[in-house]
Amino acid sequence: MDIQSAINQGAQILKNKFFLNPYLDSEILMSKVINKDKKYLLLNAQNKIEEKKLSLFKKFIDERSKGKPVSYLTNKKLFWKSEFFVTEDTLIPRPDTELIVENILNLTKNKNKISILDIGIGSGCILLSILSERKDFYGTGIDISQNCLKVANMNAINLKVHSRLKLYKSNVDKFTLGKYDLIVSNPPYIKKHILKYLDKGVVKFEPKIALDGGLDGLSEIRKVIKKSSELIKKNGKFILEIGFDQKNKVTKLLNKEGFYIKSALKDLANNDRCIICTKI
Ligand code: GLN
Repeated sequence: MDIQSAINQGAQILKNKFFLNPYLDSEILMSKVINKDKKYLLLNAQNKIEEKKLSLFKKFIDERSKGKPVSYLTNKKLFWKSEFFVTEDTLIPRPDTELIVENILNLTKNKNKISILDIGIGSGCILLSILSERKDFYGTGIDISQNCLKVANMNAINLKVHSRLKLYKSNVDKFTLGKYDLIVSNPPYIKKHILKYLDKGVVKFEPKIALDGGLDGLSEIRKVIKKSSELIKKNGKFILEIGFDQKNKVTKLLNKEGFYIKSALKDLANNDRCIICTKI
């Protein structure tokens, strides 16, 4: 079979299952299988595809048709200006989270040599994007998952920022090392009983530990705020990703710990998504 026919067949299978971008998904999976870019696919559409590669492609289409996100099949996700390695141990970086990177870069425009802590670093997308833009910033990342730390470390090497990064496996409440100019976190904040209503690809494949915020969605956020108030320098900045309906409750928690709200940002869908505050 040639490349084009295989892509078409794959796309048809996904289309029958009502996927949003069946053709694009099929092309991306073909690129992954034959290890070539999209331009190659277009220019070599009539080339025969080896039997072994064809069966791998069919396996990928089958997994995709069962809802597995494309990024978990390709182990890649573009975020900010870099391609991140991802596995099923990490959340797939969300475009909405780029809002955080953009705002941290603005906030720190005139700063030199600051140290940043990322609580729940995951794939590293937030902290490593910042370190790769600001060559004199230092980063520390903690995560409860050793596998996430391996992924973050690999991404740090790929982005050439590993010499300015320290990683620790730790629970947020047990971590006591250092004082930071800026702390960032995208903690799990989805209410436990809502988890099952999330997009099928998210529920079935993304790590629950990175999403589950307990009964009221705030159980991890509470710990993160408390710990940040201990680890942040005076006048330090704290940037927190939150759920669409958590702004008021989170504001109260922050005020209680001595944080002054600077701004709340809305995501691409116009939902409250991020709070920026200062420790006073
Ligand atoms: N924004 C993510 C989602 O909607 C949730 C991320 C999180 O809990 N930190 O799936």
